[in-house]
Amino acid sequence: MDLRMPAHLGARYKSPSQQARCVSESWGTENLYCCACVADKLLPESTNTSVTDFRCPSCVGRYQLKSQSRKLGRSILGSNYQKMLAAVLGNRSPNFFLLHYQLPEWFVRNLVVIPRFAISPTVIQKRAPLAASARRAQWIGYKLDLGLVPAAAKISLLVEGSEVSPTTVRAQFARISRIQELKPAQRGWTLDVLRCVETLPHATFANDEVYAFEAELSLLYPGNRHIKDKLRQQLQVLRDRGFLTQPSRGVWHRT
Ligand SMILES: [Zn+2]
Repeated sequence: MDLRMPAHLGARYKSPSQQARCVSESWGTENLYCCACVADKLLPESTNTSVTDFRCPSCVGRYQLKSQSRKLGRSILGSNYQKMLAAVLGNRSPNFFLLHYQLPEWFVRNLVVIPRFAISPTVIQKRAPLAASARRAQWIGYKLDLGLVPAAAKISLLVEGSEVSPTTVRAQFARISRIQELKPAQRGWTLDVLRCVETLPHATFANDEVYAFEAELSLLYPGNRHIKDKLRQQLQVLRDRGFLTQPSRGVWHRT
């Protein structure tokens, strides 16, 4: 990857957001590759919105590029909440590339891909609706809460300007892809439990350690009164998809 972005291409625009969009899209066209297959280029798709989409010419996977000059934080702003939620539930949401570049040099610093199937309905959080007087009243935006995405699904392609090998990126992408075996509406629980067990201090742990997340998960799923049963069931789902092994009854091991 070329870490210098083609800043000169933005010179024809006045607005900083248009400049950033043009420069990021051009950089992405030259440097982004498909994480789901071996295609080493992605094709930009022109849109009339502020987001840039890319499509893989080989596996037709879709990617949305979100770029910013700030460090990547806990959340990313998106546009239309209802549309995004429908896309997630309909299994049509894009993968997200999150790009952090450094100004004034226009150097690429960090790049992360979040596979589309790792974005569950709980990750898409509604923002306050626009005031009734606003031009697009009734329009509700969203933010992606990256704190609710498991670490296994935040896959780095570049870390502080140093490139991770595409082979490693694609292996990590393939590993988390097993979540796709689940229906979109069921993925939230599995991803949430994966995220919880990732934070446990030891790779081998018991049911009780996972039950400690009961209060946190009951805030995300207020309608569920059987959280412990759900946790045990999800540990089995993770085991069946290779994220955990089960050395003995009630004991689990992160792979
Ligand atoms: Zn592909």
